[in-house]
Amino acid sequence: MVFNKETHDVIVIGGGLIGCSIALRLAQQKIRVSVFDQGKPGAEASSAGAGMIAPQGETTQPDPFYELCAASRDLYADFVAEIEELSGRKVGLRREGTLMAALDETQRHGLQKIHEAQTKAGLKVERLSPEEARKRSPQLSSQIREALFIPEDYWIDNVRLMEALEQACLRAGVSFYPHAKVTRLITSNGEVESVESCAEPSSVPFHHAAGQFVLAAGAWSGKIASTLGISLPVKPCRGQMMEFEGATDFPFVLRAAHHYLVPRSGGRVIAGSTMEYAGFEKAVTGEGLRSILKGAVRIAPMVKELRFRAAWSGLRPDTEDHLPILGYGEITNLVFATGHFRNGILLTPITAQLISELILQGSASRPMEIYSPARFHLSRSRVPSHIEQQRKNHHRDHRQQKIE
Ligand SMILES: Cc1cc2nc3c(=O)[nH]c(=O)nc-3n(C[C@H](O)[C@H](O)[C@H](O)COP(=O)(O)OP(=O)(O)OC[C@H]3O[C@@H](n4cnc5c(N)ncnc54)[C@H](O)[C@@H]3O)c2cc1C
Repeated sequence: MVFNKETHDVIVIGGGLIGCSIALRLAQQKIRVSVFDQGKPGAEASSAGAGMIAPQGETTQPDPFYELCAASRDLYADFVAEIEELSGRKVGLRREGTLMAALDETQRHGLQKIHEAQTKAGLKVERLSPEEARKRSPQLSSQIREALFIPEDYWIDNVRLMEALEQACLRAGVSFYPHAKVTRLITSNGEVESVESCAEPSSVPFHHAAGQFVLAAGAWSGKIASTLGISLPVKPCRGQMMEFEGATDFPFVLRAAHHYLVPRSGGRVIAGSTMEYAGFEKAVTGEGLRSILKGAVRIAPMVKELRFRAAWSGLRPDTEDHLPILGYGEITNLVFATGHFRNGILLTPITAQLISELILQGSASRPMEIYSPARFHLSRSRVPSHIEQQRKNHHRDHRQQKIE
């Protein structure tokens, strides 16, 4: 791989879990890596998420995507131990398992299918009667019809993980450029030559050159790719969350359909979520909160007695086929690491491993074809002429500003 030793070797665009974990792996190999983020690194989906590390709960039947998720889960314990050691901060991976409950006949049918398919595939999954389930988790509603216990679906406090990962990156020598929005990628001879970044919309843009670029800007990745004339099919899927405090004895994650309760330290529990395609608006809405609360109380009626602590929303980076986009496209020095949708926290360790292998060795240790950006036939369209003109004007203005 060719790196640009005069400036940055690698520029990572996006300082969420995905961008930072890749940056860490590269810095550990003595690569000079810089992370650009339009805000505070880690403040978007990576902190907004619930922290479930749940390959089995996210699938009915094991398929290649499940294999990727399970491989990442299997890396998690070592990954967290490493981040804890590098950062000097406690993160804590919780490995007590996950309970999936059925609250009606449709859900019960769904759980039966999961149990059948996963047992056949040799995965660990226990079928529980309502009585057995309530014995393990007394908070569960008396209305549950049946439950599955999945001992190898874990969870983590992703806010703590993100903070520790950023610290680990700093100690490994990663340079951070917070509040540096990448406004476009600039190419020369068919390769990306530099990023243009601005602290504020009206401020003077800076150009930063590098040998390699990683696009890890989560739900915003499509906007950045469009500056190259590439229409990357990544769109934001909003998820709202609520946090309560005063809970005791939540022994593990409780799920029913798309609702869940995830324990956090200090008697906190978070409840999620919604799946909304509402553009880039990160609103918390009355309807969103109503549906989360209703779902949470159906799983565990005692939630309505808990003290409300906070509510927020985040944007999952969704793709057309809901699979991540990993690897090089047409441009030989631009690697994509985005589109992790509902599973970016789970997929962090494996993404960091595979993308750093691709950059450092030119190939990855697992087949990645199904995640290739090429599956979307992303040929670079001609940049629309008005954008080309804006770019020329912008470039001219920028040069004038520099001369003045
Ligand atoms: C409510 C909710 C619940 C979730 N629950 C789970 C879960 O339980 N388990 C799980 O595995 N996953 C979960 N997810 C999904 C997971 O959070 C995401 O897939 C993951 O965080 C994506 O990480 P990322 O680093 O790609 O994106 P982000 O964390 O969004 O990071 C992208 C970064 O790019 C930066 N950026 C954007 N544009 C620019 C630009 N122009 N210039 C510079 N920087 C830019 C942003 O500021 C941001 O910091 C959940 C998500 C949500 C919203």
